[in-house]
Amino acid sequence: MIRLHRPSTAVLSQSARKDMGTAQTAANGYPRGGAEIERQWNNFRRRKAGQEVWSQFAIAFSTKCAFCERVNAKTIDHYRPKERCPKKMFRWNNLLLCCSDCNRAKGHQFHFRNKTPLLLDPTQDDPAEFFGWNVSTGTIIAIANPDREHRATHTLAQLELNDQPLQDERAEKLKSIVYLLARVVREQPTEPDTRERLQAELRPDRPYLGILRFLFAQPNAYRPIVDDARAKLPDIDTWIAAWL
Ligand SMILES: [Zn+2]
Repeated sequence: MIRLHRPSTAVLSQSARKDMGTAQTAANGYPRGGAEIERQWNNFRRRKAGQEVWSQFAIAFSTKCAFCERVNAKTIDHYRPKERCPKKMFRWNNLLLCCSDCNRAKGHQFHFRNKTPLLLDPTQDDPAEFFGWNVSTGTIIAIANPDREHRATHTLAQLELNDQPLQDERAEKLKSIVYLLARVVREQPTEPDTRERLQAELRPDRPYLGILRFLFAQPNAYRPIVDDARAKLPDIDTWIAAWL
């Protein structure tokens, strides 16, 4: 998970914004858990406005799931589940792009502690303040902080973010970056192939940048290689600036 910057509603056409406003006014009268919620949402998804919402999220978030950072996410998720909170079901700020696995794991649950939602919203909360990463195993670790630990632990468990395949993919991604950084340090001068591959792997549309942000910004076993590579190839700082 990594901090995301939600675009403003200005990316939507005027007709899409109007459609959402009208749909929300009607939804304000829906009872929680009522059949009308699912029916109206499915209806909206098929309309031009619904397709526009999806495509604008796909552009803004490079098709990545807001929670697990897998690419090719297909679902619009309601941060506050529409079944529990129809008053937010067509609100732009309550919508996120999400993969089917996270959407299923999230389900209709939504818990609070001291009136604060336990689930992190990466467009509102900075995951780097809640999580650390094990750079060998790809495991996400809840930060040991009494104010944040509950939300971190809850989010990891609810979304199953330490599912083994996800951990392995994050570890693999990190390993490939460390390998390329080590080549930058070793080669005199850096070969064009190394440079091109590294730049491609660090693009904002690549998956699992959360663990890479940790690699570049926090103390960890690979920092000597990271620091040497950045000193030798300052372009790295330009490539990672968009998500660091
Ligand atoms: Zn996901």
